[in-house]
Amino acid sequence: MTDQLIAKLRDALGDHCVLFGSQIEQRYKTDWSRTVVAEPLAVVRPTDTAGVARVLEICCAYGQSVTVQGGMTGLVGGSQAADGDVVVSLERLTGIEDVDVAASTMTVWAGTPLQMAQQAAADHNLYLAIDLGARGSCQIGGNIATNAGGNRVIRYGMMREQVLGLEVVLADGTVLSHLNKMLKNNAGYDLKQLFIGTEGTLGIVTKAVLRLHPIPSASTSVLCALNNESAVIAFLARVRQRVGSSLLAFELMWPEFYQFMTQRVQGNPKPLESSGSLVLLMECATGNDGISSESLEELLALGLQEGELTDAVVAQSGAQAEAFWRIRDSVSEFPTLFAPYCSFDVSIPITQMQSFVTDLRQILLKEVSNSKTMFFGHIGDSNLHIVVHVPTARETFPKHQIDELVYTHVRQHSGSISAEHGIGTRKKQWLNFSRSEAEIALMRTLKNAFDPKHILNPGKVV
Ligand SMILES: Cc1cc2nc3c(=O)[nH]c(=O)nc-3n(C[C@H](O)[C@H](O)[C@H](O)COP(=O)(O)OP(=O)(O)OC[C@H]3O[C@@H](n4cnc5c(N)ncnc54)[C@H](O)[C@@H]3O)c2cc1C
Repeated sequence: MTDQLIAKLRDALGDHCVLFGSQIEQRYKTDWSRTVVAEPLAVVRPTDTAGVARVLEICCAYGQSVTVQGGMTGLVGGSQAADGDVVVSLERLTGIEDVDVAASTMTVWAGTPLQMAQQAAADHNLYLAIDLGARGSCQIGGNIATNAGGNRVIRYGMMREQVLGLEVVLADGTVLSHLNKMLKNNAGYDLKQLFIGTEGTLGIVTKAVLRLHPIPSASTSVLCALNNESAVIAFLARVRQRVGSSLLAFELMWPEFYQFMTQRVQGNPKPLESSGSLVLLMECATGNDGISSESLEELLALGLQEGELTDAVVAQSGAQAEAFWRIRDSVSEFPTLFAPYCSFDVSIPITQMQSFVTDLRQILLKEVSNSKTMFFGHIGDSNLHIVVHVPTARETFPKHQIDELVYTHVRQHSGSISAEHGIGTRKKQWLNFSRSEAEIALMRTLKNAFDPKHILNPGKVV
């Protein structure tokens, strides 16, 4: 049966689009985390929608499991193949089909790297309002499948808000092409929403129409010191009232994180002497589409006067703003400086943030000997990242124990076990901590309706 399947795939796509046995390179076998290495049966690399449709039609007929791979930067195991899978790689479905300046839209193939799509928008003096650290490798299709968040959510929303139309191939090979470019379209169910954030379990995205925006003009970054989370919440409310949609980022670093990034990471500056303080990195649009520098100064003065802020430094140049952001973005140093560790991406209602962090710090200290925990996050979006280090060998790292402690605490605070990374395989066990039985049952009903043979990304999400 395997030989027949491979022969059919080769017939359908041509030999050069189907890799088998020793032709399969390592990069298709393991994702970004490098924690699992699988032996897929084959890797197919279609070059158009008809090719994707033909592959799924054949795999469906054979009941063959399929793993969908974009840029492989996902952090929950969604694009990790299992032994014996057919991998559908979107890497050859790249390119910008059209930038419509009047409609402010872009039609783009799913395998296009995010950075390439951002650049194409910029070439037309427009802005694709989604940005994340993995921009050079992650793909538009992967961003849609995970409903990616990132650095600009507070102003523009998540990936879902950027998608106007989609072309998708269903598990049996049916093509749904709805490349809508219009902002208003209420003709029946909005089916595209079913493929955004469902991590390739209901269909494969092949093409998308994305909204574009005017390029933001100048912005100003500020680092502020604050005494506690209540002060952060009070200041956030003030900022939202005064700054509105000119707020581009509101990122909070707890004291352990700020000290670590400014003391342990070579080359990082320490613009605020703030031992024991929370440090906020805020960015506001201050060009034609933003607030004036005077209004920003007034806002900071008011924050200081009301006791919300204890100190503030405004970046005086682009280079200084970049240095501020380096402190926040030095998380890529964790594998070198903080290993072994495990990390979490959760959402917590903003008003519960203080009790959540204070109590979790104590719980981890008590339950996991010698653990060290750091907190930081896109706090304006209620998104908290947690990193827990335990000085032990990889093999004895108490990952399950820490997962259970963190996710139980998230559940007690009515938070979400996944803010922006999705569920994949790594969080599947904990899904019922954030979703009710009825919700999970409905997710399974949808899966059964779209993919009755469970060939698409089997065992992922639900
Ligand atoms: C350094 C770094 C920084 C990151 N920062 C952020 C961040 O700020 N915010 C954030 O949200 N995420 C972040 N991520 C996670 C990751 O980049 C995103 O989840 C991204 O959207 C995944 O895109 P990808 O193309 O790499 O998808 P993959 O990892 O290849 O796949 C992810 C999931 O989508 C499915 N999939 C991929 N392509 C398609 C398609 N065309 N059709 C259907 N299903 C598909 C896969 O099967 C899998 O389930 C970061 C990751 C790294 C490594």
